[in-house]
Amino acid sequence: MRTENSCIWRLAPVLIVGLFFWTHVDVVLADPYEDAAWQELETAHTVIRYQDPKDLTKLNARIRFPGKNWGIIRLFKPGDIKDLRSMVVRKVDIIFERAQQILGMRKPMKKVSIRVYQNRAQLHQAYKTIYGGRCRIRAWYRYRNNSVYVNVRDLNEGMLAHELAHAIIDNYLDVRPPRATAEILARYVDSHLKR
Ligand SMILES: [Zn+2]
Repeated sequence: MRTENSCIWRLAPVLIVGLFFWTHVDVVLADPYEDAAWQELETAHTVIRYQDPKDLTKLNARIRFPGKNWGIIRLFKPGDIKDLRSMVVRKVDIIFERAQQILGMRKPMKKVSIRVYQNRAQLHQAYKTIYGGRCRIRAWYRYRNNSVYVNVRDLNEGMLAHELAHAIIDNYLDVRPPRATAEILARYVDSHLKR
């Protein structure tokens, strides 16, 4: 009994140091803009997180959808902020559902978070904080928090469809497919988006 006690006390500093590093690592892995004034726009399939209403205007301009659903989108007038939000919601959901349709993977799933960064520097900082390395990609999907990361200045509907496809692919099956397989499928989605 005594031995056990002394063992625990001997371990105490190790546990305290361990706890410090664990919490420290947790803080480092957190989103650098987690505490920023994120605003949310919820759609049927996603939650769009952005930092400024102007970002929504940019996002709307970046996502074009000249397919057969374009007629529905044209009914909205982008001048009104409410209509702008409705338009972005509609566009993102159309792209999500189109990705599901192309993949043949339709089932209810947890809403995907879309984190809209304002520029490349912000996006790269987010990448560095999460993965610790230099960012060499323009957008990505992170399974751990079911989030898509994009830079609103460097985005198009194909890129968004590609990242949303990763979310659909990774959450559709009980076991996530191999990375290479998922990438082939996601590329297939963005190349067939408008067909
Ligand atoms: Zn990919």
